[in-house]
Amino acid sequence: MKATRICRECGVPQGISRTMRWNPDGTITQIGDPRHRMIFFESGNLDRMWAGICDELGVTLEHLWEVVIASKSRATRAFLNRTLFWHQRLAARFVGYRTLMSRIEEQGLVMGYGKITLGGQFPRRGRPRRVTVFIEDPYSLPLFCGDFKGAAEVLERRWSTLTYQALDERRHQIDVTVGEERLEEEYFQVENHVPRKPGDFRFTPCPSCRAPLELAHFSWDLSRGIIRDVESGRRMAFFGITGMRAVFDELKHELGERVTPTIVNSERLNTVSSMEVEEARSGFESLRLRAAVRGLGLLTSFHLSPERMEIVMTNPALPEYIVGLALGIFELAVGKEGTGRWILEEDGDLRVEITP
Ligand SMILES: [Zn+2]
Repeated sequence: MKATRICRECGVPQGISRTMRWNPDGTITQIGDPRHRMIFFESGNLDRMWAGICDELGVTLEHLWEVVIASKSRATRAFLNRTLFWHQRLAARFVGYRTLMSRIEEQGLVMGYGKITLGGQFPRRGRPRRVTVFIEDPYSLPLFCGDFKGAAEVLERRWSTLTYQALDERRHQIDVTVGEERLEEEYFQVENHVPRKPGDFRFTPCPSCRAPLELAHFSWDLSRGIIRDVESGRRMAFFGITGMRAVFDELKHELGERVTPTIVNSERLNTVSSMEVEEARSGFESLRLRAAVRGLGLLTSFHLSPERMEIVMTNPALPEYIVGLALGIFELAVGKEGTGRWILEEDGDLRVEITP
């Protein structure tokens, strides 16, 4: 398989259509590791969310990123530890990071992460003490830093530290220094697997590559690693939800419960500023499809009137995000800001109720 080969029918690269599956239960999972759930989401929302958290909770961006990088690297460690084969680790040890990096670079291009290149490794053979990468147009600089730190820690089985700096508006340099202290096995195991409920959603598959035909609404610039929604121009990327969950939970742990309303509100603002009114008013079938294409979960019930909006979502990815999205949709459709109440049911369903 050539990850960056594009389907002539729908424009989706093989690195997506052959490695990911859009399931009838409203989720996206990796074919090679079905426990790894992804969402396909507007990446610009994240930077606005970080800024919102800093503003409202009075923390510096540097500190916030520290928390994000630490929690993301932990999730990446667990994921790679499960999926990276021993021979790949061995290869990295003997031929250096270059081979591995070309895979990471390709992966980054198809997932919408930006353009990743290896800067160098010291010493050039054997166990590296320092590895440098460059990333151009990162989908999220702190999440990428977390990924890179986690990857180095899995390969070397040692704690590492990291620094990042902007070289210009688009390019960043990231240096990972591998420490002496070994990582014990327990640091590679996190993640509590959330069971999913089956669903009955059907995508129309592309006749050629079998990816959902809906993905033809997005364009892949594989020279830069940028995916865009063709209609709105918004940038999109694939995010692992375990990593995002780890980040949200750690922020809550560090800054308290007030993080949750801040995340909800920032996603509400994102929705109001970027979604069209017609989209918000497009109704159950259309919103259900939009949510499923993004892997957010399966909308199973939807009611909207000027007095009230009620939704139920099965297999919700990141409830805070979905609640913010629902508030934004209500506001756009009805023309009034809403107040939301939400609960996660025993079976994992998310129920949201919004009133003006
Ligand atoms: Zn196709």
